[in-house]
Amino acid sequence: MGDFLPYGRQSISEEDIEAVVGVLRGDWLTTGPAVGQFETDLAAHTGGTPAVAVTSGTAALHVAYAAAGIGPGDEVVTSPMTFVATAATAALHGAKVVFADVEPDTGNLSVAAAKAAVTGRTKVVAAVDYAGLPAELDELAGVAHDAGALLLEDAAHSVGGSWQGRAVGSIADLTTFSFFPTKNLTTAEGGAVVTPRDDLLDRARKFRNHGLVRDRAEQRYPDEGGWHQEVHEFGLNYRLPDVLCALGSSQLKRLAEFKKRRAEIHARYNAALADVDGVATPPSRPGADPVWHLYPLRVLDGRRRALFDHLRGAGIGVQVNYIPAYWHPVFEDLGYRRGLCPNAEAYYAQELSLPLFPSLTDADVDRVADAVRAFFGA
Ligand SMILES: *Cc1c(COP(=O)(O)O)cnc(C)c1O
Repeated sequence: MGDFLPYGRQSISEEDIEAVVGVLRGDWLTTGPAVGQFETDLAAHTGGTPAVAVTSGTAALHVAYAAAGIGPGDEVVTSPMTFVATAATAALHGAKVVFADVEPDTGNLSVAAAKAAVTGRTKVVAAVDYAGLPAELDELAGVAHDAGALLLEDAAHSVGGSWQGRAVGSIADLTTFSFFPTKNLTTAEGGAVVTPRDDLLDRARKFRNHGLVRDRAEQRYPDEGGWHQEVHEFGLNYRLPDVLCALGSSQLKRLAEFKKRRAEIHARYNAALADVDGVATPPSRPGADPVWHLYPLRVLDGRRRALFDHLRGAGIGVQVNYIPAYWHPVFEDLGYRRGLCPNAEAYYAQELSLPLFPSLTDADVDRVADAVRAFFGA
């Protein structure tokens, strides 16, 4: 039977540990030099787009929507095939979440569905790079901009990827990352917002730090005294501490290696499962350079749950990503009904994420693939 295999896990090196210990021995724990260093290091992976480090991917989304200025009366068009935070953080700002359906094969937001969903009240179109495959970013940016809205890319799965030769983070108006341990790199908890627009960057930085205005040139009462700082718009404390930023900078040095190993594992699953009747392997798109965060196998003929139970019983930590966001009772109680996005619901009914993380060995991958094959008698 073998050891239990999780579906995702972090890869921490001795260098990562040294980087964290180095900060612990120094003068700063929270906001010191490691924060700016991590933001600079991250920008080297986003085509130079400036970054704001925050405490989670969820915080990054909350900050990005704040930067976009959404509030009551505004609409945010997004995909239901995502972790609930993509929608929840918009709802917490008081905006109305409008779910648009996904492409049946990739699970990414459909351009046609997004186009049909935008109205004069749409302020943000929020796409998700599901499993690490970038969404149709150029066309979605066109849909958003034609509606007078911004494109937000929830790239929690895709840091280090690119689309049509351009780095994830350099295309959308706002891009968010998560550095949770199962993601493509980790700071334990952490995230970031990146944006090429100075005005959005400034608003994101302020929202991360209580909305505090410290620049005298911007203050209403600049002559109050040397201690003075003032709040013009409400914000929160979403500051990612130095200790965790140091881990992030260290992890970024290994992002290319993580990406390569994830791609190898993805390809090995594809090769081992392509001929199995009863499953479909995940597609890519021309011009996409994904970072495979998930391996979303599609299990046909209503057998997803049986295969899930079979693999869990064999010590293989499969997962399902995701229940359509509007199936959560919080959205149901707001009047969202099942049937809203049929492609997303069909995708969910078949989806099963196989273990995928850099330290998974070829033997581990073969063990998982063999267990899937055995289930189907292949
Ligand atoms: C993980 C994730 C988030 C939230 O990130 P956290 O760091 O866990 O808060 C948001 N969106 C997607 C698509 C995610 O996978």
